[in-house]
Amino acid sequence: MKMKKGIGVSPGVAIAPAVILDTEEFDIPERHVPVDHAQAELSRLRKATGLSRKEIQDLRKRTAEKLGKETASIFDFHLGMLDDKLLQKKFSDTILGGHVTAEYAVNTVLRAYAREFLAMPKYLADRVKDIYDIERRLLRNLIGQRHQSLAHLRRKVIVLAHDVTPSQTAGMDRDHVLGLAIDAGGQTSHTAIVARALGIPAVVGLNDITAEAAGGEMVIIDGHRGVVIVDPDPRTIEEYEQYSRQQVEFIHSLDALRDLPAITKDGHEITLLGNIEFPSEAATVLEKGGQGVGLYRTEFLYLGAETEPTEEDHYRAYRQVADICHDRPIVIRTLDLGADKYTQSRARVPERNPFLGCRSIRFCLQNLGMFKTQLRAILRASIGAHVSILFPLITNIHELRQAKTVVRDVMEDLEEEGIEHRNDLPTGMMVETPSAALQCETFAQEVDFFSVGTNDLIQYTLAVDRANERVASLFTAAHPSVLRLLKEILRAGQRYDVPVSCCGEMAADPHFTLLLLGLGLRIFSCAPPAIPNVKKIIRSVTLEQALQVARRVMTFTSDKEVTNYLRVETRRVLPEAYGS
Ligand code: PEP
Ligand code: MG
Repeated sequence: MKMKKGIGVSPGVAIAPAVILDTEEFDIPERHVPVDHAQAELSRLRKATGLSRKEIQDLRKRTAEKLGKETASIFDFHLGMLDDKLLQKKFSDTILGGHVTAEYAVNTVLRAYAREFLAMPKYLADRVKDIYDIERRLLRNLIGQRHQSLAHLRRKVIVLAHDVTPSQTAGMDRDHVLGLAIDAGGQTSHTAIVARALGIPAVVGLNDITAEAAGGEMVIIDGHRGVVIVDPDPRTIEEYEQYSRQQVEFIHSLDALRDLPAITKDGHEITLLGNIEFPSEAATVLEKGGQGVGLYRTEFLYLGAETEPTEEDHYRAYRQVADICHDRPIVIRTLDLGADKYTQSRARVPERNPFLGCRSIRFCLQNLGMFKTQLRAILRASIGAHVSILFPLITNIHELRQAKTVVRDVMEDLEEEGIEHRNDLPTGMMVETPSAALQCETFAQEVDFFSVGTNDLIQYTLAVDRANERVASLFTAAHPSVLRLLKEILRAGQRYDVPVSCCGEMAADPHFTLLLLGLGLRIFSCAPPAIPNVKKIIRSVTLEQALQVARRVMTFTSDKEVTNYLRVETRRVLPEAYGS
């Protein structure tokens, strides 16, 4: 029995035999063909391209039905590539000019293309995966060698892979793929996003799980704790089966909380909101008992899109959320692009250190046309809705003032053009850098609200890349420095009467609920599946209890002490969540 710790990105327990998704190396047939066969090779390639196009269109349709249009748009890149005239010309030049097989042309042309992407910074890695995906599909259709499709499995399995492409994940048959364990990746990879949306328990950042397990071997995935167990002994299987049953029972028991308020035992009302990446998720927030959308990560409109979304694309997405939420609050965060979330044009301008580079509000302020397009759509779509605008990664007062000026300019433009819009939307900022946290008393005098982004706040405070599996163990919200910054932010909010929410993953982790309440947090925004759990804890404690916990935690000097203490306290409040 081997136990591996990774990063849990999609909760739940799965127990099943492993299927190892290998790199699917195809045998590329003989390189050369007789001169008079070259034209026939080109025809074969055209036929395979047609088949591949049809497959991708079907996959896109199925994905759109299952996960919504935005997720399905990741296949637009694949279709765009298949139809790319330049690429087709390269294929035909290679085949006709070199008298080679269609397989050889696909392999060499696409590998060269992938190498160009690989030479670019790390955040372009997802595109390379897409290119390999297209290569495999074309080769499969040329060679006629159908591999075991993850969409048509006959038995329940856990998929182990070095990495999986977005289309492989989206095409997974939920009834048969019970879990995912991946060597590479972090919380923000396409794979993590799609796995969460599909509800498949997943652990990423495992480094070498594919080398540690063999196909058919029993595997346990604990997506909550980020643990994978290979070849478990019967006792461990039994324990996990029991844990899983308890988890399912516990989740069902939480359904009863859906329409109940998030109120402490001593009557303090807490606002509990949900984070979304795609408009359709707003409905999930409400189903889970959230009171509205506390963070809409609009940059996912760009995910896989070949061209920049138009004002109408933005408008439609925001209107969809507004129509779902009616009069409930919706916090629309302006584009947080850059670093690991990039646009096509950004992809051509690589940065050496993208997390410290031109990302988020900096990128928007340098691309005013794009920024204004989004703001116009937000102001137009907000009519009749309870919308606020949130600026990401503000690090100095000038950025905040500039961003607010752009909002005013956009209002004036809309006014002059006679276009109906809102001109009274509250504006707030993410506090997700130490510089913003340390200066939040200044910021508090110029914003309507704060939203604490603990994912980035931890990354920048502790100098730990949030998406790097090699330093994942150092990434923790329990570090006393992070907690001190958090306390400062909440204190500034109270002093200046500025509401503070927390929308980073810390808000979704029930181990921190008591502490956050005790530190003064009154607005939580978390991924939809986490809402019931957090609500349950809020409803199980008094504010006095939470205050005592916070006081104690602030005396600790290491994250380990904090983590251990919070585990004990949370277990005391909610033993059911621990299954023991
Ligand atoms: C954060 O940084 O905590 C946050 C909520 O923003 P994102 O995860 O999108 O960077
Ligand atoms: Mg952030």
